Amino acid sequence: MSYNFAETPIEFLKGVGPKRAELLSKELNIRCFGDLLQYYPFRYIDRSKFHKANEITSDLVYVQMKGKIVATETIGKMRASRFVATFKDETGSIELVWFQGIKWIKEKLKLGEEYVVFGKPSIFNKTYNILHPDIELLSENQSEISEGLYPYYSSSEKLKAMGFTSRGISKITKTLVIMAKNSIPETLTPEIISKYKFISREEALINIHFPANAEILQKAQIRIKFEELFYLQLSLLMMRQIRLVKTEGHRFTSVGEHFNAFYNTKLPFELTNAQKRVIKEIRTDLGSGKQMNRLLQGDVGSGKTLVALMCMLIALDNNYQSCLMVPTEILANQHFETISRMLDGLNVNVELLTGSTKAAKRKKIDEGLQSAQIHILIGTHALIEDTVQFANLGLVIIDEQHRFGVEQRAKLWNKNEKQPHILVMTATPIPRTLAMTLYGDLDYSAIDEMPPGRKSIKTYHYFDSGRLKVFAFLKQQVNAGRQVYVVYPLINESVTLDLKDLMDGYNSITREFPLPEYAVSIVHGQMKSADKDYEMQRFVKGETQLMVSTTVIEVGVDVPNASVMLIENAERFGLSQLHQLRGRVGRGAEQSYCILMTGNKLTSDGRKRIETMVRTTDGFEIAEADLKLRGPGDMQGTQQSGMLDLHLADIVKDEKLIKHARDLAIDILKHDAMLESQKNQKLREQLQRMKKVRGNWEKIS
Ligand code: ADP
Ligand code: MG
Repeated sequence: MSYNFAETPIEFLKGVGPKRAELLSKELNIRCFGDLLQYYPFRYIDRSKFHKANEITSDLVYVQMKGKIVATETIGKMRASRFVATFKDETGSIELVWFQGIKWIKEKLKLGEEYVVFGKPSIFNKTYNILHPDIELLSENQSEISEGLYPYYSSSEKLKAMGFTSRGISKITKTLVIMAKNSIPETLTPEIISKYKFISREEALINIHFPANAEILQKAQIRIKFEELFYLQLSLLMMRQIRLVKTEGHRFTSVGEHFNAFYNTKLPFELTNAQKRVIKEIRTDLGSGKQMNRLLQGDVGSGKTLVALMCMLIALDNNYQSCLMVPTEILANQHFETISRMLDGLNVNVELLTGSTKAAKRKKIDEGLQSAQIHILIGTHALIEDTVQFANLGLVIIDEQHRFGVEQRAKLWNKNEKQPHILVMTATPIPRTLAMTLYGDLDYSAIDEMPPGRKSIKTYHYFDSGRLKVFAFLKQQVNAGRQVYVVYPLINESVTLDLKDLMDGYNSITREFPLPEYAVSIVHGQMKSADKDYEMQRFVKGETQLMVSTTVIEVGVDVPNASVMLIENAERFGLSQLHQLRGRVGRGAEQSYCILMTGNKLTSDGRKRIETMVRTTDGFEIAEADLKLRGPGDMQGTQQSGMLDLHLADIVKDEKLIKHARDLAIDILKHDAMLESQKNQKLREQLQRMKKVRGNWEKIS
């Protein structure tokens, strides 16, 4: 068989035709035979088990029942109408309800015949009902598959109305699987198959749809998931190889004068082991002659700026310029000040370029960059403008990368003929498995250790009923000279209502902390930016002891004297947001606290988030928990990744498989970097077939 089989348009499958093919394509992205084969069931039901009407509760995720339709009725008119069928077994009855495709279902259903129905039960007017159930004649249901588990496919209302209920999809899939038998090509090499004791691709595809038993189903799932993950990793790693082969990098051979002078005379503390390791990893890249593309992760406060600075000094020692790009002017200013101070007396020229840089200054900077007088340029996205031209840009560092779009980054590295080395730094912890998938084509370093001497922030959870105690604690802290943040979430859709929550909170705080003894700042999104700045500054200067705000507090705000972060309605915040907020305290020498206030009723996810925050301050652990709670779909950047190609594999649940798949891909490429050997031709061919990879492949083929 040829691959044309998989690419045959779905309309040519028996039971489909052009009209339904169009709908399958529109609703489920199923366009060809291969797409349908990869449209896997979302659940399997033991077809021999049926629920009785008197056993139904709305807690059940689904029910499968056997019985008869005893009455039907159309209620309401025109577009608002619904069709209701009373479905009865020997223990009682429920209602089946359709809002769409009424005409079709009305013609199909016959009173007195035995049916099997399947769906999610809910309760309405004290009666259980199933909306848009899957329904088929018992005789049909029993005849098709004689034993085993019964696949359920998700579908859409429109498709169901045209007969493609789960059952309908199962039927055409059955037809296709029978046709495809003996012609589903193997996509893994014999070595891999025997190494992992996989079943064949054909067996896997047949059994993922129509499993004979639970054991073979599991084998099929593992084989298919592994294959998805393996080819994803193989393609990511190939992209990296291609980049390394194609893009020559500046070779930084020496670590010299500037780096050593800084290290020996300026470094105010010992580097952490993690910082040392990361600098070593980066140095190896910089000296390799290949262009570096590395992601550096490290939690807030782990000391990334220092790593960045030392790398820029290596560039300088090799007569290259570097730039450090950050997302906001506040951060650019902050970095410029810290770095200038650290380099004081070292004969290194550092400049700052932002949107507010005056024209005259700007002109001088342009000249300095072109004459290579300026060694290090720090700034915002103003760095990307075409007018900014370097004489010899060798290293680009991007801080807080998640705030820059891919295009912005690409623009920066296209500034010179020879691409500069790229280091992307982020404080948003990404779990390892996600990083392997999202940034699998970048090299990856992590600073997983905090500088010594930090007091870890103590985190407590209080219900609203404990408010008096909490206020007493705040008062004690404030009276001891500390400062306090009180943060409110944006809860309501309406700005006015949110503002009211905030103002109510502000009023109760000012009652508790009255003038003239105390002063309270307030900052929220509806204020003019000059007013916000003014209030922020009062708090920074210590003129106010408490800061009541929504989450608009800017990144980079640094008040070391603040020792308490009180978060109201904490259950409404996501984990990463809670973690970022908590990071605003614990910057000074004093013990700091984070207090999470919640209502008495917590959802199970809400409770897990609070428990996680109380248990740990480790950003990576929090990110893992976040990923487990929310799923990868909501995580930053997942949209652009190849993860959308995963049909069955799950980035959270299949962590082990991801690791195996990546290790295998690394191992294969280590021995055969471009998949040229005879035995790897199967892999190369499969990669070439995969649409997404094709574009990148052609660059070298
Ligand atoms: P981030 O990773 O969030 O960018 P910074 O680079 O701003 O963190 O570092 C946070 C603070 O920790 C800074 O004040 C910095 O001077 C300090 N710091 C960095 N490295 C060390 C170290 N090895 N030992 C002690 N303090 C350090
Ligand atoms: Mg930083």
